[in-house]
Amino acid sequence: MSGPCVTVIGGGLAGSEAAWAAASRGVRVTLIEMRPLRMTPAHRTGNLAELVCSNSLKSARIANAAGLLKEEMRRLGSLILPAADSASVPAGEALAVDPEAFAVAVTERIASCDRIVVERREALHVPAERPLVIATGPLTSEALTDSLVALTGQASLHFYDAVAPTVTLESLDMTRAFRASRRNRGQTEDSAGGGDYINCPMTREEYDAFHSALIHAEIADPHLAAEKDAPYFEACVPVEALAARGPRTLAFGPMRPVGLVDPRTGRRPHAVVQLRQENRQGTLWGLVGFQTRLKWSEQRRVFRMIPGLENAEFVRYGVMHRNTYVNAPLVLEPTTQMRAHRGVFLAGQLTGVEGYVESAAVGILAGMNAARHALGLEPVVPPADTVIGSLCRHISECDAKVFSPMNANHGLLPPIEPRPRDRAERGTAYAERSLAALERWMAALGRQEPMAAEP
Ligand SMILES: Cc1cc2nc3c(=O)[nH]c(=O)nc-3n(C[C@H](O)[C@H](O)[C@H](O)COP(=O)(O)OP(=O)(O)OC[C@H]3O[C@@H](n4cnc5c(N)ncnc54)[C@H](O)[C@@H]3O)c2cc1C
Repeated sequence: MSGPCVTVIGGGLAGSEAAWAAASRGVRVTLIEMRPLRMTPAHRTGNLAELVCSNSLKSARIANAAGLLKEEMRRLGSLILPAADSASVPAGEALAVDPEAFAVAVTERIASCDRIVVERREALHVPAERPLVIATGPLTSEALTDSLVALTGQASLHFYDAVAPTVTLESLDMTRAFRASRRNRGQTEDSAGGGDYINCPMTREEYDAFHSALIHAEIADPHLAAEKDAPYFEACVPVEALAARGPRTLAFGPMRPVGLVDPRTGRRPHAVVQLRQENRQGTLWGLVGFQTRLKWSEQRRVFRMIPGLENAEFVRYGVMHRNTYVNAPLVLEPTTQMRAHRGVFLAGQLTGVEGYVESAAVGILAGMNAARHALGLEPVVPPADTVIGSLCRHISECDAKVFSPMNANHGLLPPIEPRPRDRAERGTAYAERSLAALERWMAALGRQEPMAAEP
């Protein structure tokens, strides 16, 4: 091939978007996909952008964060969303697709693009070509994983997800929960109301009822049969498995009340669920030590028994499954370029975002920036007011010590001032602000790069 060229490894959701975004900017693309020659444990076909599980791309309403992200992607020239529209099936307010028709539509559009060449082979190591987009997903093949370890360092690559649920601050009942750190340790100046943690105190009766509900709750089917035997690190045992070890195990483990005094009673509670801040704005909080395999509906039912969480809004549920992803704050810039390797961009679930749409969205940005690199332009990131911009900033700027994969949600966005009390109104306000910011940003960018509409 002659002229500027981008190499993309992985023809999943992110890699397909990356290839399309790069080709849309007049750049030639080599897209390397190992299927069907070599399959992952979850994929079943050789189609590009195969959905490995559910057929839902979540809400289509722009007042919802996932819906807004999709609208942003459409404006950025998404490949997968027109394919999803053409393959959509009735699903109320969600965008759901016939998975086969969807993947075929993506595969055909890529095949019809004369700037993209698809090579069907496994990339066994990170190649020397630059710019390069690596979008090999949560089930990246072993050989390439080893090569990624060499590129990022062992400590920067995760292989398994043990994620606890995350809830929004605004949905917590702070008349029941209180701010404190154990024995006042680790308190920071900006921890409003005296302590870095939010603590949900339980009486003995509340603890017993919670324990009983937890051990009888329904577990989700593991995505992959092989995961039934997935080894847990002792620090990552699912909370329901810990509870099953005995009635007091949690009270001596993640729910121990040691060093905490409930300001309302002046006494140490019988047990405590602690929540730790998960983003800079302090709008998202994770349940410490509550990684779980419970069904999402069961997580809602059981965890809402925790005092203060009765009306909790879950922006992410706990999961435990195989997932290869980098510790993005150590490794990535918000542009998805690797901090230590110019011209290497990561995309998709490998960057530490979670979900089909989120993975695809990051693919658009990675492809766009890889093309800019090829054209001698600096990489860019959309405004913080957009969901895609806030997601990329979150993964690259949050605390590396507690980094875990993140999906699209309003809690990542800067708050709206004054804050509309009604949730639907708030969602609309976020959407209007985001889309206006995105349009301004694209208009400014249009002066720098060729934005061909179709490759
Ligand atoms: C089992 C499972 C179920 C999931 N279910 C859902 C769900 O229901 N809803 C949801 O929103 N998210 C789900 N996810 C999370 C995530 O959204 C998807 O995994 C999503 O497909 C990620 O997109 P991606 O482009 O990053 O990776 P993928 O879509 O997996 O694409 C990566 C591609 O890279 C290829 N590849 C891997 N290694 C190599 C190599 N060495 N050389 C060449 N090609 C390679 C793979 O064959 C694959 O085509 C699930 C994840 C898993 C693992």
